[in-house]
Formats: sequence, C-alpha cells, structure tokens
Amino acid sequence: MNKYVVKCPECKEVQDPYALHCPNDDALLRTEYSKKQIEPADMPGIWRYYDWLPVNGIIEEGSGRPVTYRSEEFAKELGLSDLNITFNGYWPEKEAFIRTCSFKDLESFPTMQRLIENNEERIMVVASAGNTARAFAHVASITGQKLLLIVPKNSTHRLWTTDENSSSICTVTVDGDYYQAIAMAEKIAARDDFVSEGGARNVARRDGMGTVMLDAVLTTKSLPHHYFQAVGSGTGGISAWEASIRLLEDGRFGNNMPRLHLAQNLPCAPLYSLWTGIELTGRCPEEMHDDVLYNRKPPYSAIGGVKDALDDTNGMIYGISNKEAESAQNLFEESEGIDILPAPGVACAALIKAVDSGEIKTDDQIVLNITGGGQKRLEEEFPTQQLEIGLTVSPTDPDAERKILEKVSELFGKGGY
Ligand SMILES: *Cc1c(COP(=O)(O)O)cnc(C)c1O
Repeated sequence: MNKYVVKCPECKEVQDPYALHCPNDDALLRTEYSKKQIEPADMPGIWRYYDWLPVNGIIEEGSGRPVTYRSEEFAKELGLSDLNITFNGYWPEKEAFIRTCSFKDLESFPTMQRLIENNEERIMVVASAGNTARAFAHVASITGQKLLLIVPKNSTHRLWTTDENSSSICTVTVDGDYYQAIAMAEKIAARDDFVSEGGARNVARRDGMGTVMLDAVLTTKSLPHHYFQAVGSGTGGISAWEASIRLLEDGRFGNNMPRLHLAQNLPCAPLYSLWTGIELTGRCPEEMHDDVLYNRKPPYSAIGGVKDALDDTNGMIYGISNKEAESAQNLFEESEGIDILPAPGVACAALIKAVDSGEIKTDDQIVLNITGGGQKRLEEEFPTQQLEIGLTVSPTDPDAERKILEKVSELFGKGGY
C-alpha cells in the first residue's frame, strides 16, 4: 500500500501526488495517509512527524521542528492555567533548532524533499516577503537545488543565512510590493525550465505546517480547545485544521475539534475583512507591525480554504493594531525570556483580546503558535550573512523578465536551464 494518496476533499477523486488542482472543482487537494495513528519517528528535525508528511525519504541535515512547552510566566500574566506554546525558531535551551527562525522551514523541507523524489531538474521559483525566501534558501543550500527567489525590495533585510554555500540560489528583488513580486514570479514560473512551489495548494507546505498541531497534541496528549496563530495567507490555519481532522481520526487525543483563532494585522487584513465584512483602508504593507502578514489574495473561499476551516472549527479572526501587537510582543518576550518575530506578537495580542472579552475561559487548553523567534538568540552563536542580490528589477520594466532570465543563465550556465 502507498504511504499516502492525494485526494480532492470535495469529489473524493484521487489525483496525481504532485497535482495542485482538482480537474473538477476549486478545492485544495488533501493528503490521505494510510497510517491512521501517528507515531513519532526517531529521525531528525521535522521528520519526527514522517508518518504524516507526504514524502518517501528525508533530507538528513538542517531541519528543525516545532517544540511545545507549557507556559509559566506569560500564562500567569494572562491568568491562564493551561497555555501551551509551540515555538518555531532557535532556542537551544528548549531543543528548538530552526535555523532560519520561522515556521516557513516546516514548508520548505517537505517541499524540497518532494522535488528530489520527483527528479525535478527545473529551477524552483519562490516569491516571498522574506521568511519563506530564507527557508527555501536554507534548504536549497543543503540540497544544491537551483532556486530563483523573487522578493520585494523592502524585505531584503530578511534575506540572511547561516549557510556558507548559497551558489545554487539566484536572488532577484522587485522594486514593488509582495503582490508584484508574486506576479513576476508567476510569469517566470510559467516558462518551461521553471517550476513553482504552489503556495497554499502544495500539500507538502500544508502538512509541513500541520506539524505544529501534531507537536502540540503529541506533547500534551490531547486536542486543545483553542489554537492561536497570526496569519497572512491563512495557510497555517488551514494546516492546523487538517492536522486536527487527522488527530481526531487517530482517536487517542479526544474528540474535540480545536477552535481556530486567527490573527491579522490592521489595517492590512483582507481575511479579517472577508470574515467580518468590515472594510479597511490604509497603506499596505507600509503601515504594518509585520508585513510578512500581508497577502492580498489569500485562499479564503476555495473549498478546503480558510472559510471552511473557520466554519468547521467555529473559528474567529481578530484584527490587531500595531500598538496591541507591539505591547503583546514585549510582554511575551519579557515573560518567556526569548525574542520573537513581530508576526507572532500579533497572535499574542489576539490571545490577550480573547481572554479580555471572555471568548475563552481561563482554564481552557490553549495552543499558541509562535511562528518565528530566537533570531537574537541565534545571532549569539552563529555568524549570519546577507544573501547576495543578483539583480533588482522594476515591476513596470517591460524588459524585467528578460533581465531575470539572463541573470539566471549567467549564474547557472546556459545549459543550466
Ligand atoms: C508566513 C508567516 C506567518 C503567516 O503564515 P500563514 O501562511 O498565513 O499561515 C506568520 N508568522 C510568520 C513568522 C510567518 O513567516
């Protein structure tokens, strides 16, 4: 029997394991694993959750995994008795070893492993506001897979690495926003010699992020009442929901579907707008606490997307101001004793709001996904360097595409693509 199949949750047809779309509808395809009860594997990093990752092999080196621990101090500040923090980042004292300091590594490793299994020789194209770029750059440095990163220019400060050899990576910055970087990446990825990683539609990305819920539940031994996460695309929320469906089927962790509490950063919060009907105005992403949370086209209404995840879990979306995010981040850092990225500060603020409004009870079991942290902690131990920018293009330059292709062939050689 195969380890897994990829199926449409709507029409139930089995699709090619690498398919990104169902030919019959717009549903997000979903993995179905033959093993219904997960057993942690004695393997490094994320591969501990090998049973429920859509791979048939691993990348030995370089991956980390989410680490769940019971909060004492932050929980006390909020008056909560069962707050569990799932930390994604670098914090060796807690055995947290994600070297790029965000949960995007949970997506990049399984995605890369599948490219290898599929004997992919095309150049992978990734558009990113930063953390995803760093995660894919890290794994590509390990495997040597050719990678074209397309990043908005004002996110270049996030393009650091601890890896020494980044020779398989071509980095292009676009003098525009994330959406313009995506549009540029789509044009390039449509060419024969390039392949896109598929975003929210890629089951490896979602099941990789789903390991946050797996780690939380395998640590606490029960499905929590509530799951809090800061979202841009909402993919992490969908992933937590899908992992919960599998854990319910597993049978050993109770029969409670966790409520999703997703947090967006105002005013750039399209999921919050779609969910509440509240219209927002503001300059995006300039006015944000963390622009990694900006995504103009999140997978909201597709079958199996954010709306379905919220409906099925009796979920909520919070709109969080910069001020709320900043003070929640400070409170978290001071009480837990680790630095975090700005984005998870937005999730901390949502948790505070939920407590204050009585939305959750103080003795409920809660999982707070800290989606990135420990960058300062990492810098105490490792030298970091900036990825070299190969080229900067303007989104309105009609020649931008040709210039990028030239840069790619200059770096990888004409025969390289
Ligand atoms: C990408 C990102 C998020 C949001 O992820 P979704 O794809 O919306 O689930 C949250 N925090 C950090 C640090 C991120 O990099």
